[in-house]
Amino acid sequence: MDGPAASGKSTVARRIAERLGFTYVNTGSMFRGMTYMAVRELPSLEEAVVSQSVASWDVKSWLEGGEMKFTVNGVDPLPYIRDENVAKNVSPVAAIPAVRLILKNLQRALALEAPLVMEGRDIGTSIFPDTPHKFYIDADVEIRERRRLGEGVVDSIKLRDAVDRARAAAPLRVAEGAVVIDTSHMSVEEVTAAVLGHLREQGISA
Ligand code: C5P
Repeated sequence: MDGPAASGKSTVARRIAERLGFTYVNTGSMFRGMTYMAVRELPSLEEAVVSQSVASWDVKSWLEGGEMKFTVNGVDPLPYIRDENVAKNVSPVAAIPAVRLILKNLQRALALEAPLVMEGRDIGTSIFPDTPHKFYIDADVEIRERRRLGEGVVDSIKLRDAVDRARAAAPLRVAEGAVVIDTSHMSVEEVTAAVLGHLREQGISA
């Protein structure tokens, strides 16, 4: 499941996972975790510095108690990934191929552990291009900004989207064969029902 920031994909992906008894994996939190550690540990976020440093980091992810766990050099960064400093820097860090490669390998390995609902920006285009179960969850940018503000979160979603779409490595775009759902005027229940409907047609049901 892919889509731009605040499109509603996390809420829907989590619900779909619950309904199907699958494990929900938010790959944005992995990129945010890498960014938190980069901001904390590195002298700069220049590509050369980040690429060289992350190559020696011990980055792990696994499933435990129905959740994805993630550590970098033994540190769990997930409690800190909503910090403004992370939101501000995550898109440039996520554009660095060395960061993407580490996470791509981990994300693919997670799917060997259990059935997943995985959400992000490049799941259908790059991580699992062969899956027949692709969704692209979108919404008008004004509505997405309003949703984020409603959550009381400071987030530059327009800027993140622009960087995520423009990068050379696995840019945000609609994957071939993805079902596109515009959630601008839909409730979470309606979007969830639409996704479950498509999956049912594909032989996947609760
Ligand atoms: O999903 P979330 O908004 O938390 O993602 C944070 C950022 O992580 C995105 O803006 C994007 O830069 C990056 N990301 C990515 N590829 C993914 C998931 C997230 O590049 N699969």
